[in-house]
Amino acid sequence: MVVGKLRPATVTVDLAAIRHNVKEEIKRLDGHSELFAVVKADGYGHGAVPVARACRAAGATGFCVALLDEALELRAAHFTEPILVLGITPANEAAIAAANDVSLTFGTLEWLQAAAENLAAHANTPLKVHIALDTGMGRIGFREEADLRAACDYLTAHQDTFITEGIFTHFATADEKDTTYFKQQAKRFNELVAVLPRRPKYVHVSNSATSLWHAACNGNMVRFGVAIYGLNPSGRGIPELPYPLQPALSLTSELTFVKMLHKGDAVSYGATYHAAGDEWIGTVPLGYADGWLRRLQGFHVLVNGQPCEIVGRICMDQFMIRLPEQLPVGTTVTLVGEDHGATVSMQDVADYSHTIHYELCCILTQRLPRRYINE
Ligand SMILES: *Cc1c(COP(=O)(O)O)cnc(C)c1O
Repeated sequence: MVVGKLRPATVTVDLAAIRHNVKEEIKRLDGHSELFAVVKADGYGHGAVPVARACRAAGATGFCVALLDEALELRAAHFTEPILVLGITPANEAAIAAANDVSLTFGTLEWLQAAAENLAAHANTPLKVHIALDTGMGRIGFREEADLRAACDYLTAHQDTFITEGIFTHFATADEKDTTYFKQQAKRFNELVAVLPRRPKYVHVSNSATSLWHAACNGNMVRFGVAIYGLNPSGRGIPELPYPLQPALSLTSELTFVKMLHKGDAVSYGATYHAAGDEWIGTVPLGYADGWLRRLQGFHVLVNGQPCEIVGRICMDQFMIRLPEQLPVGTTVTLVGEDHGATVSMQDVADYSHTIHYELCCILTQRLPRRYINE
């Protein structure tokens, strides 16, 4: 994958904002709880390694990722803190995880048995594991006491092979105002945890939304994700926050071409836009191949603090905007972020494109260079 280092389009990540968000959350935790920074999907598109460094500097004591490969990226960057893979890793990769001191998640006895085989066939380093409990998310984890008990018995009998480091669940509705389903899940979590012969080192239930808005079910670690990046996990659902989150990401470019169109002149594929009269039209060198969605046609970007409409279809690598006046090539265009006191937030882009900011961050492709400020 080519990174467009020589192009005028940049994702800027403010590491001071990331440190702020992590520090503020740690201040709210009781003294016994740790914050693990969730840096899966390349740190939600912000860059896993620089984000992880900023989180560690702000007090995070571990990391969560989705894939074993993502854990190995952090180990290759010399992170020595605990790293938990949140998804199910193929059991035949267990030895690789163990050799790199990466903790894996499981939710069936069969997975443990298969992982034990793989571990026995390779170097005999014990594997750290976290027990996933499905309390209502319907994704991964034990649902029944009997199955969980059988797995616990197996772990007790195989203490040279597995270190039971944690147990956790994931909430489906922690970002919603109605807490009915959340409470059912919390109750089920406590029932299932009671099956364990002893409490593992980490008991954790909190994603960002749970940590921000709910009591923590006696957990002692939070898996802090989207809020690290300064984004409200509920979107606009729960605007009240215990402290202001600072968005870390901005996306900027510059005008590469400016021209006047006359009444009736068309813009872009399908000729869907026609100038109503004399109009200054600017071209921005960024498109859907960068993750700037095609359905953002009609949305706006900021130029000199003024909103400028995206006119015509967004192309793979470029799109056009209507300017208030003739502006020079090289004028800064802000797609996401602040410009002269005006702001376009990821949430604004998400609202217009009928998705969530989580998704928009993740789909900013590697072709966009990442620049880090306030390191
Ligand atoms: C992604 C993920 C998180 C982080 O969620 P946020 O909403 O980004 O805070 C926490 N736990 C699990 C299991 C996850 O998959």
